[in-house]
Amino acid sequence: MNIEGLVNVVDVEATCWDTTPPEGQVSEIIEIGLTLVDIDSRTRVGRHRVLVRPELSTVSPFCTELTGLTQAEVDTGVSFAEACEQLVANHRTRERAWFSWGDYDRKQFLRQCDQSGVPYPFHQNHINAKAVFATAHGLRRPVGMDRALKVVGLPLEGRHHRGEDDAWNIAALVLHLADRGAV
Ligand code: AMP
Ligand code: MG
Repeated sequence: MNIEGLVNVVDVEATCWDTTPPEGQVSEIIEIGLTLVDIDSRTRVGRHRVLVRPELSTVSPFCTELTGLTQAEVDTGVSFAEACEQLVANHRTRERAWFSWGDYDRKQFLRQCDQSGVPYPFHQNHINAKAVFATAHGLRRPVGMDRALKVVGLPLEGRHHRGEDDAWNIAALVLHLADRGAV
């Protein structure tokens, strides 16, 4: 793949429910976790988090249980438009290749940008680390981040389903893939 230099690893959390959303609500991004990775030196060089205030939905008890995020906490966040501006300005998301685990995060950004009229903040070069990992390890089907960490003997640092921690842990898997020459 020949990815070099600085790349972003991104993991989003969004409002969610154990069944279908309540009437009138849609799933919206509430946390963007971003770890800056230097592929050349094989290090995680920055750990970031942007909290986003949802506009068409609220944080359900189910969502708090899953992500640890509360409505009160996301009320302190910025708008989705402001969050996207911060990504571009502070994290060069239009210039850097970026990774996420699966294709959910990219699709959620595409969907929400389309719905809200906010310009898509990322570079075209998105790498699905989950798919690369499955290929590199000869797995029959892709596995979750927690399973992948176990497969390679890396620790799950922090709390699973917290965007900041997920991005940090996925970044370790990206560096593992770089070591294997898979990215
Ligand atoms: P993750 O990066 O795995 O923490 O998941 C990202 C988002 O996907 C979460 O913030 C939820 O909106 C949704 N999600 C993940 N797992 C579930 C689940 N078991 N039930 C409902 N939504 C989920
Ligand atoms: Mg997550």
